[in-house]
Amino acid sequence: MPYAYDDQNIFARILRGEIPNNTVKETEHTLAFADIQPQAPHHVLVIPKGRYVTADHFAAEASEAEIVDFWRTFGSICAELGVTPDAGDGYRIISNAGEHGVQEVPHFHLHILGGRGLGRMLQPA
Ligand code: AMP
Repeated sequence: MPYAYDDQNIFARILRGEIPNNTVKETEHTLAFADIQPQAPHHVLVIPKGRYVTADHFAAEASEAEIVDFWRTFGSICAELGVTPDAGDGYRIISNAGEHGVQEVPHFHLHILGGRGLGRMLQPA
C-alpha cells in the first residue's frame, strides 16, 4: 500500500510558509526548527522538505541527496547545540511513526532532545 501524504499537515504548511517557525537551520532538502512544546532545554525537529510520512518511507523513497543532506544537517545541529558526547553530555533522537509510535504529525521528523538527563528510553506501559 503506498504511503498517503496529507498536504494539509502542519509541517507541510510550515514548509509552504503558511505557519511561522523558529528555524534552527535550513538547507536545500532539510528544515530544522524548534519544537513548539519543548520537552527538554534543547528540542529541535528535523524534517525533509520532501513529502515523506515516516522514517521508513523516507528511507525507501528519498533520493541519496535528500538522505545525505538530512543526516548531515542533523549532525551539524547536534554539534552546534554542543550535545555530541565527545564535546557535551549527549542527546536522544526519536522518530514516532504510526499509531503505536503515537505520531501526531504525518510528515517524517526527527526529534533531537538534549540539555538535561533524559532518563530511560521508555516508561513502563
Ligand atoms: P509527533 O508527531 O508525535 O512526533 O510530535 C509532533 C511534534 O510536533 C510535537 O512535539 C509538537 O509539539 C510539535 N509541533 C506541532 N506543531 C508545531 C509547530 N507549529 N511548530 C513546532 N512544533 C510543532
